[in-house]
Amino acid sequence: MSKNPSGVRFFSSLKVKFALSYMAVIVLALVMMNTYFLSASRDMIFSSKLAGVRSQAAIMETALRDIERLSADAVSQVVARLDLGGLSRVVVMGERGDMLYGAPDESDSVIESYLSSVLSGYDVYYSKFADGAFYVSVFAPVVRGGAVTGSVFITDIDTDQGEILMGLQNTIRSISILMLILSILLIAFILWTIMRRITSVLRAIENVREGEYNYHINMTGNDELAALGRQFDDLTDKLRETDYIRRRFVADASHELKTPLSSIKLLSDSILQNETIDESTVREFVSDIGQEAERLARTTEKLMTLTRLDGGNVEEAAVPVDLRDVVSSTLRMLAPLAEIGEITLTSSLDAGCIVLATEDSLHQVAFNLVENALKYNVPRGSVNVALIRRALETVLRVEDSGIGVPDDDLPHIFNRFYRVDKARSRSFGGSGLGLSIARDTVRAHGGKITAAPRNEGGMVFEVRFPLYTPPEA
Ligand code: ADP
Repeated sequence: MSKNPSGVRFFSSLKVKFALSYMAVIVLALVMMNTYFLSASRDMIFSSKLAGVRSQAAIMETALRDIERLSADAVSQVVARLDLGGLSRVVVMGERGDMLYGAPDESDSVIESYLSSVLSGYDVYYSKFADGAFYVSVFAPVVRGGAVTGSVFITDIDTDQGEILMGLQNTIRSISILMLILSILLIAFILWTIMRRITSVLRAIENVREGEYNYHINMTGNDELAALGRQFDDLTDKLRETDYIRRRFVADASHELKTPLSSIKLLSDSILQNETIDESTVREFVSDIGQEAERLARTTEKLMTLTRLDGGNVEEAAVPVDLRDVVSSTLRMLAPLAEIGEITLTSSLDAGCIVLATEDSLHQVAFNLVENALKYNVPRGSVNVALIRRALETVLRVEDSGIGVPDDDLPHIFNRFYRVDKARSRSFGGSGLGLSIARDTVRAHGGKITAAPRNEGGMVFEVRFPLYTPPEA
């Protein structure tokens, strides 16, 4: 079976299925109109005609019953007396089937076939519709004192009602043909418009699959297909954005990994190629190689953390954790760094700040923020860490009097590998991944992180977590 360009088989195609089912319903309706309706009208006419002819036959039979011995004269007198003008043919026969009244005719074959039944006392009715006329015949015995004395055969041929019925039939046929043509045109039009739009969606999917993320369907209208088109365009925009982020991430990650690798290569080459190099320089270079290797290890560790967060893998199940304990231990760990930079590190930590998370992830967030506040500070500057318990949330605020972030960079500092001052960040072993890890971790536990400049210079980072309240016992 042939296939169209979208790879759908002919009989599996929606177009063909729609067209065939619509056509089947319409043809069925038209056939019913042309057959059932006409045959029902014909049956109605037949039964009313038959009732009329039967009552005429009954009248004749009653009149002939009074005659003791049927003869041609006696029958002619009775027929003349009765008003039988509306009937097309009247035949009266004697007890042996001899014709007493009426002339021979082609309908005599009916008489011959049924004569013996009628003479045995049965009524016979016969009707047909031919050449645009209704033929209704009644063949009945004349019974006198329990004995059959003869028979009456009367026929009514109605061409007027036949003509009306034929006219009706022709009109219905013409209307049916017209309806059929209109339906075909309408179906073709509807299918054409629907299929044109479905084809445009299919084409768009093919293009986007080939990587053309700028492709838009721009479907007009307000129906379901237009909604589908709009959804598709939104999806393509999202894909484009994701693709861009992925590419940039790969490029940034390779760059980050390449820099320490180049340094290692350069340092090892210097040692190998310089034959007169003294031992203290070799030690210095090897120590540098060690630092670069550590940087590589840290960067890959962070990249792995990010990949885990991207995949939604929270390794440990979240449990209620006291944020004050976590922040206190972080401050203890970072106190030496504050001392080196001559920075005053102060804190005010509320009790009862319970958060549903894991201790490690909260530690990572707090450590990153406080470490940054110390790293990007000025000599003899200050850092204040506050933990505030509110009715429904817990706020961790890290304020510093440091160098701050320029307004243009502020929207980007949570991006992966983003560093305002590369040299300064590198000198502290930074990779530009700390804040993006902090943001992803905070989000994974239902929280929010924000950064804002401080009026007096420096930065304020705030993390808000929903406060954990134990379920009622
Ligand atoms: P890094 O490893 O470079 O510190 P982060 O993701 O932690 O990476 O931070 C991204 C960048 O944001 C830093 O390189 C720095 O330029 C800026 N930044 C972060 N915290 C502060 C802060 N408290 N004060 C000034 N700049 C900051």
